[in-house]
Amino acid sequence: MITHKNITIFFIFLLFLLNLLNLYITINFLWFLGIIVIWIAINAIGSSRISSNYHVKAFCNNPLITEKKIALTFDDGPSSYTLEVLALLKKYNAKATFFCIGKNIKAHPEIVKQIIAEGHLIGNHSYSHSKFFDFYNAEMIAEEIRKTDRLLEKLTSKKINFFRPPYGVTTPSIRRALQATGHKVIGWNIRSLDGGTKNKDLIFNRIIKRISPGGIVLLHDTAPHSVFVLEQFLQFLQENNYTVISIEELLNLKAYEN
Ligand SMILES: [Zn+2]
Repeated sequence: MITHKNITIFFIFLLFLLNLLNLYITINFLWFLGIIVIWIAINAIGSSRISSNYHVKAFCNNPLITEKKIALTFDDGPSSYTLEVLALLKKYNAKATFFCIGKNIKAHPEIVKQIIAEGHLIGNHSYSHSKFFDFYNAEMIAEEIRKTDRLLEKLTSKKINFFRPPYGVTTPSIRRALQATGHKVIGWNIRSLDGGTKNKDLIFNRIIKRISPGGIVLLHDTAPHSVFVLEQFLQFLQENNYTVISIEELLNLKAYEN
């Protein structure tokens, strides 16, 4: 399996071999440099793709599901737009999972309560969602996760089991932090990129092109264009006989510990 550990062992072995060979024939230093550059490139790709399982095991879909069933996830809330998302989900009788940011939970505790009361699931999406999260050490990351969990536990009386790393980026520090906190990482395989563009048609077409049974869709409950696309998308799912199921049902995992 291509994991950070296996790749690193392989590349250290390569460098060792090259060094050994260097005792008999002169090897140009560019070979050493090339190997290190390739190792860095593989790390960059592995870290940026949550589905690669490079640093941590992430649940991104369920390939065993063949019926038209998918799960919806909303990141970065709660915000005032979460209320519009909740109203739409109610209208279309769909249940979703909200990966909430700790500082936003602190600002909108009543929305978190409403999410739970309306039968949706909650996951942890760090406390700060800092741009520098991927440079934090394991202790800082574990503390962010625990701080957010404490807020959620107070509001929901539930011990949170799901974590989604900010930007879907994973690192060795995140792996170590998760070993300490014990959270399961939930990724996605259908990304709307609604955080990067406001073009509603582009977002909608991106999602429906990628839709397939057992998939997990990533959306955001933080902007008006995302809410607009959600209604179009829920209509599309209804017209195409797709059923929206929870992450718990799709992955056969528990969102909370007792
Ligand atoms: Zn996010």
